[in-house]
Amino acid sequence: MNTINTALDNADLLAFERKPIHNSGKIQPYGVVLVLQEPDLKILQVSTNSYAVFGISPEEMLEKSLEDILDPFQIEKLEMGLQQDNLDFINPTKIWARKHGDDYVIFDGVFHRNTEGNLILELEPATSQENIPFLSFYHLARASINQLQETSRLRDFCQIIVQEVRKVTGFDRVMLYKFDEDNHGAVIAEEKLDHLESYLDLHYPASDIPKQARKLFSSNWIRIIPDTKAEPVALYPLNNPISDRPLDLTNSILRSPSACHLEYLHNMGVGASLTISLIEDGKLWGLIACHHLTPKYVSYELRKACEFLGRVIFSEISNREETEDYDYRMKLNYFGSQLVDDMSQSDDFVSGLIKHDTNLLNLTSARGAAVCYNGNWTLLGETPAEEELNFLVKWLYQNIDEEVFTTDSLAKIYPDADQYKNTASGLVAMAISRRNYVLWFRPEVIQTVNWGGDPHNAYQADHSQGNLKMSPRKSFELWKETVRLTSLPWKQVEVNAVKELRKAIVNIVLRKADELALLTNDLQRSNAELKRFAYVASHDLQEPLNHVSNYVQLLEMRYGERLDEDAKDFIGFAVEGVTLMQTLIDDVLAYSKVDSQVSQFELTEVRTPLEQALTNLQRRISESQAVITIQDNLPTIMADQTQLMQLFQNLLSNAIKFRSSAVPEIEIKAERQEYEWLFSVKDNAIGIDPQFCERIFIIFQRLHTRDEYPGTGMGLAICKKIIECHRGRIWVESELGKGSTFYFTIPVGGRERDRRN
Ligand code: ADP
Repeated sequence: MNTINTALDNADLLAFERKPIHNSGKIQPYGVVLVLQEPDLKILQVSTNSYAVFGISPEEMLEKSLEDILDPFQIEKLEMGLQQDNLDFINPTKIWARKHGDDYVIFDGVFHRNTEGNLILELEPATSQENIPFLSFYHLARASINQLQETSRLRDFCQIIVQEVRKVTGFDRVMLYKFDEDNHGAVIAEEKLDHLESYLDLHYPASDIPKQARKLFSSNWIRIIPDTKAEPVALYPLNNPISDRPLDLTNSILRSPSACHLEYLHNMGVGASLTISLIEDGKLWGLIACHHLTPKYVSYELRKACEFLGRVIFSEISNREETEDYDYRMKLNYFGSQLVDDMSQSDDFVSGLIKHDTNLLNLTSARGAAVCYNGNWTLLGETPAEEELNFLVKWLYQNIDEEVFTTDSLAKIYPDADQYKNTASGLVAMAISRRNYVLWFRPEVIQTVNWGGDPHNAYQADHSQGNLKMSPRKSFELWKETVRLTSLPWKQVEVNAVKELRKAIVNIVLRKADELALLTNDLQRSNAELKRFAYVASHDLQEPLNHVSNYVQLLEMRYGERLDEDAKDFIGFAVEGVTLMQTLIDDVLAYSKVDSQVSQFELTEVRTPLEQALTNLQRRISESQAVITIQDNLPTIMADQTQLMQLFQNLLSNAIKFRSSAVPEIEIKAERQEYEWLFSVKDNAIGIDPQFCERIFIIFQRLHTRDEYPGTGMGLAICKKIIECHRGRIWVESELGKGSTFYFTIPVGGRERDRRN
């Protein structure tokens, strides 16, 4: 079905929707309504046509009770029936009402109690004197059902229903009308006199059957208007004498239709109508609408037979709807299980969804699909660009609560999608978790929808009489609408397949999260062990090293004079080696101490640790005459101040250490990005060959000998660990001979706000 928005969209229509239609106090004149007081069945209200029917004026009727009109044996029977809770036992009842003397009129009488507890008796002229036994309904339905068994398509099935109903009732036109999700409807089966114009496949806007009317159709399964031109008659008195309010006629058979509905039928050229509700799970699924050009009365029994037919047959329709897509459903089940298999066998579930013969596209017959997982996109088929998808996901995240959301007209709810209507007019969005989504797309397919009259001018409002009066459209002529920005609709079986897949993905993601948690535990344990080891090793190593260093120096002091030049050089090398070893140990210790568990994250003005680092490097700065420029207004961020100081110190000391022949010039900046701060430290030093730009962040990795430049190769490894502790990233952009810029990021909200969530 298409999704043209024909819902009520202006104030007049909304007011019209709310207008009650069940308590107008008017009935159709072909029958009589009596409102009775229990238990003595005194007449409280009567329709004003009582004189025409009984020869008794309404005023006189109010002085009587039912006993005065019916014979005692009937009263006795009725009184017994009325004691039962379920009035179906006496409905319908043949009622012989006394007119004059021995002159009787025969009615089909039906009792009901309304919400306020009033007992209402409705009398319709009887066409036969006998009650039709229930079994005849059964045979009627049985015959139709036998025919129905042979068809499997919903449409053929509906066609048989309208044929049968027309055969039984003799209406000029019988239609089966199905409601769409947005409450507009379309005629999906029709049987009619040959010369009448066909309404088959015409769509009707939701406002044609306003909310109030839909509600009444749900509680009253069958409605008859034998003569649409008949003048309605009022109840006398208009208000119920007990409640002093208009009577609730919701479940009344004779209730007069609203003036607007009658006008609608007149405009359609309908002289009589019979409507049978088709209800599925308490919701109005559709209607069987019977129209006759001239007035036509259908007896209570026959109506009941039709209602029965409607109920029994309709229970078959629901089954039929399900089995119709059976083959396709089976195919989707197969694709679904294939995907689950592939997912569980791949290291990451995303490639399981994308990389095999059966992929995401098969599951919904989509033309494009995209997976957004942990901030990364994986695209398949025809999709909008990643940048657009980022905005779309943000919008979904803020506006859509459903785990699986579908639309066949994305641009109508998310106007930006207009730009990529050729790939994504239709969308199925499956949320895996916050901001992680699987999306399917379908392109725009321009459709033509045939309406019964212009749906945008379904009614005209008239305020001239002081009151709002709505008039339905005069013309029901074919009105073609070209529908754009709409894809082919998603079938329920496809949506169900997506829901199933979601369960599997969520399970896999949860399992991966469990594995990850175990891994993190292991990692934490081995990290702790490593730290202990580094600490103990460096601490314990310091001591023997000091020993070596002391004794070598002692050797030089005591025996210096007896040693030749070579021996003195050797001692010098030994001292150098020991000093280097001590620096290495200090650096490894510094590295092992960078640990998020013991870091102190607090609001830190970046300038403070930077200035500490500059103070520590004061001597080297002045010796090298380095010029350091710092951007004004550096931000305040959530960070560990000591670690930040160490980070700046390492970066600055490298920029000075690896200087070229030029005077070192260093520039420090910070820039706000969407979720993080981006810092940069730019120098004019010797630069780095881009192929080594990643390697230099690994421990002990250096690009020069110690003779060229002193160092341990730990400085940048420590920087990297510090930044990782802050959940940021660090990298360098450089070229040999052209200086380097070191970049690092720190999340705006500190490490607690992972930038990907
Ligand atoms: P170290 O400075 O102790 O050698 P680092 O880990 O700090 O160790 O640096 C690793 C290597 O990266 C250095 O040996 C050097 O080759 C290169 N490097 C670091 N910073 C710079 C820089 N600013 N300019 C040029 N090369 C650099």
